[in-house]
Parts: sequence; C-alpha cells; structure tokens
Amino acid sequence: MLYEIEIRTNKEFEIIDITSKVQKIVEESDIQEGIAVIFTKHTTTALIVNENEKGLLSDIEFLLRNIIPRGKGYMHDKIDNNAHSHLRAILLNPSIVIPIKDKKLELGVWQSILFVELDGPRFRKVIVKLCSC
Ligand code: ZN
Repeated sequence: MLYEIEIRTNKEFEIIDITSKVQKIVEESDIQEGIAVIFTKHTTTALIVNENEKGLLSDIEFLLRNIIPRGKGYMHDKIDNNAHSHLRAILLNPSIVIPIKDKKLELGVWQSILFVELDGPRFRKVIVKLCSC
C-alpha cells in the first residue's frame, strides 16, 4: 500500500504538521501492526519528528538559517539560486519510519511528524508506505 499526501506550501521556510494526515491513512488501512515509512520526494524539503510548539519551530528556522546562510558563494547558486535550501535539507532527513500498533502511530506524547519546506512556496508530495510486520 502506497499513499500520497499533497502539500501546498506558502512560504520560503515553513514547517507543516502532517501527523493527522498520516494517522488517517493508517486508520483507513488494514494494517494493525507494522511500520509506516514517510518519504518526501524533493531535494529541498525534509521530514522530522519533533514537538509542534510555535517557539521551537521558530528556533529550528533560526538554527538552519544560521548554520547555512543564503548566498555564501555556493556553486549551485550559479545554475539554481537555492543552494542554501539543498544544504539545509541534507542536515535533516528525507524519510522517517514510525511503528504502528493497534492501528495507531506509536508516537510519543510530544512527537509530531513535521514536513519542512526549505524552498517554497511550492506544491509538494510526500509518500506514505505501510507495511505489516
Ligand atoms: Zn537547486
């Protein structure tokens, strides 16, 4: 079973909580126990599991902007003006794996699945693959 989540982002940098969308896919599947693989199909986006708290989301943006500032003479900027977006993406993850138990994502109380847009606004696709095991 392969599912797709479509995400329309609105800003250059944006963090979008997709936990409820993934949980809905799990609930509507026939998987009782197994794993969910969530994968973003883009080179300037990422997925993380962390707390969806407004201040923390700002801190993540602050951290990435400071570690990898825009326009530092990157080679990729000569052909596509978004080297900083690619470089920020490689510090994060293109995919995450979450266990499923009793038709629910086994996330901790403060854990959310966060989609990170690093070069928006754009139309994005995230793949969800569910496996029974
Ligand atoms: Zn590029």
